[in-house]
Amino acid sequence: AARTARSLRRAFGGEVKDVVVRAVDHIDLTVNKGEVVGLVGESGCGKSTVGRMVAGIMPPSDGGVLFHGRDVATLAGADRTRAALQVQMIFQDPYASLNPRLRVADIVGEAPLVHALVTRGDWDGYVDAQLRRAGLDPAYKHRYPHQFSGGQRQRIGIARALAVQPEFLVCDEAVAALDVSIQAQILNLFMDLRAELNLTYLFISHDLGVVEHLSDRVVVMYLGRIMEEAPTDELFIHANHPYTQALLEEVPRIDRRKRQFTAIKGEIPSPLNPPPGCHFHPRCPHAMPVCREVAPVLREIAPGHRSACHLND
Ligand code: SF4
Ligand code: MG
Repeated sequence: AARTARSLRRAFGGEVKDVVVRAVDHIDLTVNKGEVVGLVGESGCGKSTVGRMVAGIMPPSDGGVLFHGRDVATLAGADRTRAALQVQMIFQDPYASLNPRLRVADIVGEAPLVHALVTRGDWDGYVDAQLRRAGLDPAYKHRYPHQFSGGQRQRIGIARALAVQPEFLVCDEAVAALDVSIQAQILNLFMDLRAELNLTYLFISHDLGVVEHLSDRVVVMYLGRIMEEAPTDELFIHANHPYTQALLEEVPRIDRRKRQFTAIKGEIPSPLNPPPGCHFHPRCPHAMPVCREVAPVLREIAPGHRSACHLND
């Protein structure tokens, strides 16, 4: 396993500067080397929290994150630095994470120099190569982030991530802020990079259409828990969980990418105070009395296909 997050539990940590920490409850997630795993769910389901824990930005309050079989929290010194560089995160809004006062060359080239991945003598060529790989013309490397379009800024963010030679990218809504035509270009870039660099991805999105396009396996989250997990084709043909089925109904079969799923009946309860039993029961058309009291266990219903629903009992 390239990276395993076992029994991640992010207890509600209160509000920090108006940013609510979303609760995640015992998530057991494995991403194998070279695999693309799509993590989907509505806003507030905890998928970004899982992404941050996997990327090492946020420590789990309980459980651990394993990378090549080792708990990253126990690593020290050079091992810790290497593990941190090997997993890079790509965010929805690259502009917010690009220093506006730095030129693109420095944004992309700073970390590799600090971590001695390149010498000063080779630096220019190295930066140019990262920019080209992300589809940017090195001729513009002396410009500042505000001089680029949204799609180009996302490419700068990607070039910066690639510059430290990661093997794992955690992409959190990485194309959500872009126009549909630009989205397709960036998604294609991610897939080209996968083939070229043998990258592993955790691809987080609220858009099932985006995830279908590029994932080998899909994990569906709802209010801090995994509801269903299956190889992508299996999930789209044999969705088991009523929540996944509802999500699929929201995605038109023809040109799925034009719509996003947001309109499932009923409001999403607060992730900070989820309903007892199956979290989905207030919105589920098949809810039974047991669903209000007992949380269903995620269990295998076919090879590689897991679902958490009492209908399978
Ligand atoms: Fe619906 Fe019950 Fe299954 Fe939850 S456990 S999805 S409420 S049928
Ligand atoms: Mg999010």
